Amino acid sequence: MADVKRVCCIGAGYVGGPTCAIIASKCPDITVTVVDLSQARINEWNSDKLPIFEPGLDDLVKQCRGKNLFFSTEIEKGIKEADLIFISVNTPTKNYGIGKGRAADLKYIESAARKIAEVAVSSKIVVEKSTVPVKAAESIAHILQANHRRGVHYQVLSNPEFLAEGTAVKDLMYPDRVLIGGELSEEGNRAIMALSNIYQHWVPKDNIITMNTWSSELSKLTANAFLAQRISSINAISAVCEATGADVSEVAHAIGTDSRIGPKFLQASVGFGGSCFQKDVLNLVYLCECLNLPDVAVYWQTVIEMNEFQKRRFARRVIEALFNTVTNKRIAIFGFAFKKDTGDTRESPSIYICKYLMDEQAKLAIYDPKVDHEQMISDLTHPSISDNPTRVQELVTLTKDPYEAARSAHAIVICTEWDEFKDYDYQKIYDSMLKPAFIFDGRMILDHKQLQKIGYHVETIGKRLSD
Ligand code: NAD
Repeated sequence: MADVKRVCCIGAGYVGGPTCAIIASKCPDITVTVVDLSQARINEWNSDKLPIFEPGLDDLVKQCRGKNLFFSTEIEKGIKEADLIFISVNTPTKNYGIGKGRAADLKYIESAARKIAEVAVSSKIVVEKSTVPVKAAESIAHILQANHRRGVHYQVLSNPEFLAEGTAVKDLMYPDRVLIGGELSEEGNRAIMALSNIYQHWVPKDNIITMNTWSSELSKLTANAFLAQRISSINAISAVCEATGADVSEVAHAIGTDSRIGPKFLQASVGFGGSCFQKDVLNLVYLCECLNLPDVAVYWQTVIEMNEFQKRRFARRVIEALFNTVTNKRIAIFGFAFKKDTGDTRESPSIYICKYLMDEQAKLAIYDPKVDHEQMISDLTHPSISDNPTRVQELVTLTKDPYEAARSAHAIVICTEWDEFKDYDYQKIYDSMLKPAFIFDGRMILDHKQLQKIGYHVETIGKRLSD
């Protein structure tokens, strides 16, 4: 296939939007159209308030939108006109039927593949950008081939995305590597080269790794499983630290300076969240079960169990420290997003902690710099520990002012590592709180000694600050 001139991306989400903005900005000769079923989401991509917050994204989109970057609900048109189509739809954990709670739900992938087969009138390279179980590309190829028109041919590639929310633009601009998996045939190689040529506009050739499709699909699940495992490992050690008097930051520093281990992803915390880690580890667990590898499945399952343990342990600590009851006590929650620099709340540990405390009838005052209040209510109302909407309204106050959240509160619980939390006037906050005033630093970001000097009772992860 000659050089790609028109790209379509099915799915205008956290991955599809930023990825296409970068392609459009780096490849002025390529026209990029991002399509989605959701009219509301597309309207936002075409407005001044983008549907997702990512540092640097607004400028990038403004620079290209209307020139060679388009957002549209005209899915069929986008598919028809494209030489290369990214499938970047959501692949959430299945919440029904076979594999419930573990398997990836591939219905959105299948429907995108069927739509391509239904409307394509020329040959396409179809690129699996979503995170999928190994062999999903085979299913996509089957769907495309079973429905293809005469003279229309497909090459299916795997090109998993490794960006992290909060640093998406930087990660896409300077990726550690780009992975492209494809069929090891002449046609397959041509398709791999066509996609590689797009990336070579800004990624050094040596950082573009090509391999067989199944290795590429498995590499994505493996990468997320390893990252999640590191967090669960240091969190497991944080519990040992609290029980012994060791300090998890010191232990992390000690092991992180070992070049075989390295310093990244050794920050103990209230637990990992986000739409990917849990989902992808569970996806791997389910894959192992299907491959009749139960011992391997159990091995990876413990990464999730440790994360659940950590969230539960932290929530219980809050209750225990507050004299074993939080009923009717006002507690300020600082941070609702699953990490800093994003408004995404999917699988956020903050949701778990809020629900746990609400179940104990605490009155929560929640503040997050980027999460909409509507989103918070929806997350807290979802069926789970606290599934009564009226109860949520009774127990939760949402505020746009952290000082207001903390006023007359018994405690502040830090759930997200937003930088601004480090800069507040904690003396002023202390003066407005009920005494004794507690801070539970679930992200280890505050100056604990300073807070203790002010008079706070401080609790954090992996370190005893007071006995
Ligand atoms: P998302 O939920 O933000 O976006 C997916 C979009 O796809 C939605 O807007 C949805 O309306 C749209 N969609 C679903 N089916 C469609 C269809 N048939 N036609 C048109 N549009 C359709 O999801 P995301 O966070 O961008 O993730 C996409 C994929 O990338 C997932 O597989 C995810 O695991 C993977 N991934 C995500 C991240 C991340 O940080 N979010 C990082 C790496 C990989």
